[in-house]
Amino acid sequence: MNKLHYESRYRQLCSELHRHSRLYYTYDRPEISDAEYDQLFRELLELEKAHPELVTPSSPSLRVGAPPLEQFTPVLHGQPMLSLGNALNEEELVEFDARIRRFLGRDEPVRYACEPKIDGVAVELVYRDGVLEIGSTRGDGTTGEGITENLRTIPSVPLLLNGEPPELLEVRGEVYIDLADFQSFNQEREEEGLQVFANPRNAAAGSLRQLNSSITAKRPLKIFCYGVGRLSGEPPASHYELLKRFQQWGLRVNLEHTRTFEGIDPVAEYFRQMQSLRDRLPYEIDGLVVKVDALALQRELGEKTRTPRWAIACKFPPRQATTVVEDIVLQVGRTGAITPVAQLRPVEVSGVTVSRASLHNWDEIARLDVMVGDTVVIERAGDVIPDVVKVLPEHRNGKEYSVPLPESCPVCQGPVAKLEGEVVPRCQELSCPARLRESIKHFVSRRAMDIDGLGERTIGQLLKQNLIHSVADLYHLTKEDLLGCERFADKSAEKLLKAITASKTRPLGRFLFALGIRHVGEHLAGLLARQFGSLEELSRATREELLAIHEIGPQVADSVTDFFAKPRNREILSALQQAGVTPQIEERRHGGPFDGKTFVFTGSLTRFSRKQAQETVERLGGRASGSVSKKTDWVIAGEAAGSKLDKARQLGIQILSEEEFLNMVNDLEGA
Ligand code: NAD
Repeated sequence: MNKLHYESRYRQLCSELHRHSRLYYTYDRPEISDAEYDQLFRELLELEKAHPELVTPSSPSLRVGAPPLEQFTPVLHGQPMLSLGNALNEEELVEFDARIRRFLGRDEPVRYACEPKIDGVAVELVYRDGVLEIGSTRGDGTTGEGITENLRTIPSVPLLLNGEPPELLEVRGEVYIDLADFQSFNQEREEEGLQVFANPRNAAAGSLRQLNSSITAKRPLKIFCYGVGRLSGEPPASHYELLKRFQQWGLRVNLEHTRTFEGIDPVAEYFRQMQSLRDRLPYEIDGLVVKVDALALQRELGEKTRTPRWAIACKFPPRQATTVVEDIVLQVGRTGAITPVAQLRPVEVSGVTVSRASLHNWDEIARLDVMVGDTVVIERAGDVIPDVVKVLPEHRNGKEYSVPLPESCPVCQGPVAKLEGEVVPRCQELSCPARLRESIKHFVSRRAMDIDGLGERTIGQLLKQNLIHSVADLYHLTKEDLLGCERFADKSAEKLLKAITASKTRPLGRFLFALGIRHVGEHLAGLLARQFGSLEELSRATREELLAIHEIGPQVADSVTDFFAKPRNREILSALQQAGVTPQIEERRHGGPFDGKTFVFTGSLTRFSRKQAQETVERLGGRASGSVSKKTDWVIAGEAAGSKLDKARQLGIQILSEEEFLNMVNDLEGA
């Protein structure tokens, strides 16, 4: 390559990498896969190695992450939060070990701690005297985004540490979303016409970096802690001991899959094992992190600008394959959302044969420029249904054709509309057979009414034979009806009828979720069930009463009241009731110390989040409400409490500080 050529390639790489970093870190919307990014990054490093004069201080090779967003308070890390160097195969892992031993000047094997590389978002939690004070993202490694309130809403982030925590602890960890939660969360978003997240990492990052912590509270986030910044007192001798200390203090660690080994060979073996375990873990991992176990050696090895010398990320190869888009079909969901799906020539991707890939919406089709007949690269990223990563235009022969935005519903030919702020068009026809089929599928699904044995095909046949017109008709199905469907014999029909009967007494929360009220996912359905106690109470709830509940905003309140106001929905509910469907009241701790008591939390709470307060009250049998009335028993006032506190005083309601509330809970729970 001549000088002009490599200089221009270098500039191009820098600008592309900066752009992709911004898309990935700042906007949680990557346009290329991690493997592609890593490849570009490696090319940059190789050019810099061959031509060191090219490197400027703004090179991506000297940067960690991306600068924090201005909307968040900047948080300066006590010690920089670095990235990790990576090894893409076992040879590179062996090289890493050789480098370490050369640096330390030792022949004997080094002890390594190995742990799964969780694909989430790095955060730092600062505890002083065991109290969570500040939480932040990694940001550019020096300055992160202050997201303390958001982190407080995560149940596995302790607000107070157990035992004898140090005066100062800066703990680092990865916030992530389990795969199953990610899939249902994305499905809900697709139904809502919202952009879906490309993978669990982006979903976790998007959930964490919210300006309103009540949004974060609804997302199923978890944390694993794996590292430390500043730590006062005597440090432990090894990384493994550090993790054990974390555990004693009540921090969540992934000890189950953490191993230590003498020398690099067993590390390589564990890397192979982890790769085969990957698809069986409930969360997405993208590699194995290998760390020198002895903290004294870590200190001796120190850091480079962007990465520590004592650790490396062994990345798994991407789960990609190349295939052909044979068709693009349009699916109609239960809310009418029309989504394009690529039908693929079947291909195996890391042990799973795939024949479909979600294209999500027409913005995505335009971005990828994908057409029927195209050869594409697909990748499984935290999902069994893969994504199309890119089109290979060199395989085109001119016969490819695109699929335009539909002007009418592909199933019922009814009108479609694309509402402002939504990325998919929707079928407007309430009686569209596809919508009905999807709503029944949702109603019977495992997380809703859990009717085992009623699959998509049977539902399709029952609809075709006009045996069901709403979910209520499921409860009138007879053995003969089922025997008229394919693949049903005496036994399987009886089994399904039993499963249908058993679903009549599902908990109220699941029933509400099954109804498919817009914007009411599993979490909110459970919350509404606990707050209102019965379907009748909820159906009578006014917008104001709903808004009084913490976590419920105008969109949900409107959606719930609209749902119960619609005559067709009331008809179905009464048909369900007549068929003997009697959802069970959520199990509350009747006879618990807060039984029948109502609490209101107001002002800014510093010792616990609203979500945690609510959960505590409910655990002890009480209710947390958002507004003060004569029925309120206690008001817990944080700092700068305003009108609710005044009202509580006027009504003569007992007022407690956060501290007093915690003492009361500790006394009761200890009792
Ligand atoms: P990294 O993800 O390769 O490694 C460092 C991170 O690993 C840490 O910050 C931490 O968040 C995480 N981690 C998970 N488990 C850990 C454990 N047990 N111990 C220590 N750390 C653990 O590095 P990075 O700087 O966060 O990101 C670079 C990577 O991000 C790239 O390699 C690429 O894969 C991806 N990326 C992709 C795009 C894109 O457009 N697709 C853009 C930018 C970056």
